[in-house]
This record gives sequence, C-alpha cells and structure tokens, in this order.
Amino acid sequence: MNISLILAAVALVPQPAKLVETGGTTKNAEIRYVTDAAVPAEGYRLKVAADGITVTSSDAAGRYYAGVTLAQLKDGETWPCVEIEDAPAYRWRGAHLDECRHFFGKETVKQMLDLMAQHKLNRFHWHLTEDQGWRLDIPGYPELVKYGAVRSASVRHGQRATKGSKEDADKLNGVKYGPYFYTEADIREIVAYAAERHIVIVPEIELPGHVFAALAAYPEFACVPANMASREPRLVWGIEKDVLCLGNDKAIKFMEDVLDYVCRLFPGDVVHIGGDECPQVRWKDCPKCQARIKAEGLKDEHGLQPWITRHFVKFLEARGKRALGWDEYLLGDVPKSAIGMSWRTRRQGAGHALVSGAQAAVRGHDVVMTPNKFCYLDYGQCLPNDPFQYIGGKLPLEMCYSFDPCADVPAEARKHILGGQCNNWSEYTWNEYDLAWKMWPRTCALAEVFWLGDAKPGFADFKKRMATHRGRLIAQGINCAPLE
Ligand SMILES: [Zn+2]
Repeated sequence: MNISLILAAVALVPQPAKLVETGGTTKNAEIRYVTDAAVPAEGYRLKVAADGITVTSSDAAGRYYAGVTLAQLKDGETWPCVEIEDAPAYRWRGAHLDECRHFFGKETVKQMLDLMAQHKLNRFHWHLTEDQGWRLDIPGYPELVKYGAVRSASVRHGQRATKGSKEDADKLNGVKYGPYFYTEADIREIVAYAAERHIVIVPEIELPGHVFAALAAYPEFACVPANMASREPRLVWGIEKDVLCLGNDKAIKFMEDVLDYVCRLFPGDVVHIGGDECPQVRWKDCPKCQARIKAEGLKDEHGLQPWITRHFVKFLEARGKRALGWDEYLLGDVPKSAIGMSWRTRRQGAGHALVSGAQAAVRGHDVVMTPNKFCYLDYGQCLPNDPFQYIGGKLPLEMCYSFDPCADVPAEARKHILGGQCNNWSEYTWNEYDLAWKMWPRTCALAEVFWLGDAKPGFADFKKRMATHRGRLIAQGINCAPLE
C-alpha cells in the first residue's frame, strides 16, 4: 500500500521506517509504556488506537522518539490511528555549530537542540575554538577569554575578506565583537538540556591549526610569538599560517590541560580535535619544531601532525573518550580507533592532502560523513531573491535530500560509516535569523537521510510532507526558508 499517499495530511519528518494507518482517529491520550529488548536501539513501536496509545521500546531514546512522532501526529485534540515500527538507519545523526566566527549564545543553542530533537538528531558538534575566537573559559588559563574571546572588528556584511588582516583591512567593520564565551555553569546547563533531549554534545577543540585566538592569549605557544603582537584573534576569514608550536612542551601541556578539562566537563564519549587546514610553513622554519622532528625521528614537518594526532588520540583514550577529527588528521600513521569526519570529496587548498571518508573506512576507521557538497549549510540554497549571504557553493534542498552517506563506500567497509551531520559554519552567518534560514528546511532533508538511509521515500514525497512540516517550524517562530 502507498503509505505516503494515505498519510499525506499527517506529514511526519523524518518519515518513520514503517507506518500503517489503521483507520479512524482517537482523542484518548492515555499512553502505556512497554519495554521490549527486541526493539533496536533508539527505535520504537507506536500503536495509536481507540483504546489509547502504546509505546514499546528497549531504551529511553526510543521512548523519547515515539513522543516526537506523537507530537507531529497530533492534529488539534486528536490523533490518527496508526501502527508504526521505527528505528534509525544511522547511529550518528548530527548537527554542528560554529560559534567562533560568529557567536549565537545559550538561547539559540537551546533552540537548536529543541529543533534537533524534533528531527531525531542525536549529536551536537559544538565548534568552540578557532582562529577568530575562543569561546570556552578554561581554569588556569584566564588570558584565553580575556584576549581570545573578543576582537576589534569583523568582516563587513557583503564583503569577503580572507587574506591577512592588513591586506583586507578596508573590508572590516571596526565594531568590537565580544567578549563572547561560555562559563563552566553555562556548559553544564547546556549539557543537561541536551541530555534531556537524548542529544550527546561533541565539543571541538581545534589543534594544531585554527588556534590563532589561543595564540593571541599566549603568544609563547606559537613558533613566531611576534606575529601575535596585536593580541587579538584573526579578524578576517580564511586559513591562518600561525599554528601551535609542536616543538614547545609548554604548548602541548596547554592543549593537554584544555582537553583534560573538556573531558571532565562534557560527559559524551567523543571529543573532536580538529586537525584540518594546518599549514606547515612555520614548523619548517622553527628551531623548536625542527628539534622535535629530529628527536622523534620524523622525516620532516609533514610528520608533525600525525605525531601530535597519535599523542592526543591516546591522551583521550586514557580518559575514556574517542578522538574525532577532520579528514586531514587521518594522514600518516594514526591509530584505527581515531574517528574521521569526512568534509571533502575532492582535494582542496594548498598542501591539504585528502583522505576521503571511503578511504578512511576501508582502512578501518569509523567515519562520520559530512561532505561539503551535501552537508555544508553555509552553501547557497539557490532560492530566488535570497536575502542572506553565503560562503559560496550551491546546495539546494533537493541536493541535501539526495545525499547517501555510503555512496562511495565499498560494501565491506560500510559498517564503519557511523552516519552523517550537517555543518553550520558562520563566517557569513551573523545571527540566529540568518542561521535558522540556512538550517531549515535543509536540516529536515538531512535528518530524513540519516534516519532512513536507503529507505527514504524520495524527494517528491518529502517535499509534500515538508509543506505541512514547514508550518510547524514557522509556528515556533523559526525563520525557515521556503521550499524553493
Ligand atoms: Zn615551532
């Protein structure tokens, strides 16, 4: 039977794996909860009938997701009678937020967590450190937020500035930005808020590149401290050449202290350690880094990144966590326990060799698929008269829906594909309205991809349900973009 046709008015997003309308409606809101170990993790069975509602699950997440489905099914005071059997195709269903280029704050993060839960997304990847801002207060390192959480200017609306602060100075707005950062109390509040919604927070501390804001606070951790003379984060976007000095034991101890604290603050099982876009030009000319290369028997500066990755993968393992990093961090000899986050489908940028998600999975690494071509929501939606600015690239709604996390992965390696994630980089995303416009409805499409995998019913079907579902988002005050 054609399920989507029958339930067109019901409009669930993501669509459940198996759904049958049994006829009629009920106003009986009495819910019986049943535990059955045979129901898959995060899955549930839901029966809505004249004599009430029955929810069967093996875990609390499944019970919670049955509630999410019930909320979408509810039409006024009634529910349609249905039988649903549902479970996710992928266990990692993520959304990411860059709070460094622009800062959104606690209320926007909570609203994002609410919306993620409504779409059965279960991983919030929180990008907390960058060249342009350090957003986490760390005990023992007060200078981090003093210098790293505030900048004297940002790139102006409509401008693109990516070179160096001097070359692009005329593109800056001259408006002080910050200080913006999270305290320990803020983090504990948000971690608890996420946990209530069955969302695990994956904090990201970037290393060894994308650390300019930390170097502004502690110039001695850079290869060339004089380059941090302004004592403020990088003002323009783009890739920064000044990175962590890996020849300096104190710089490494600093990162250990940060990660040790992060491991204690965030209860989740995974910590993201960045690893992307790290130019090696400073290491090449730094006597300390060169001494490290010699002492560790590395071939040249290219050996330093795998060396520090190995160090922190083990460091995190000793604290009960698994390391996650952008695909470049899998270059060289890195333990198989390291999880890759695949962001590129082709080689881009000077010196950044590519380990694709498929290659990483074949090598035996678990992988989260988040290729920019399908998952970067700062790419253009291709809407007529779109008022917002994008970083570049094109990613219309249908393209998001067409994403298959296992597309290029050989069958025998597919067990390593944990799932996927949409990424919200914020160079050109200034505030919560701008963010919402870029996230919705494209996140709905990706949420359905991550929940249903190959069983997704097709874009036309999705779009039909979205016409109703978009109304739910608008009713919550979300600045959801149109469907076309
Ligand atoms: Zn150095």
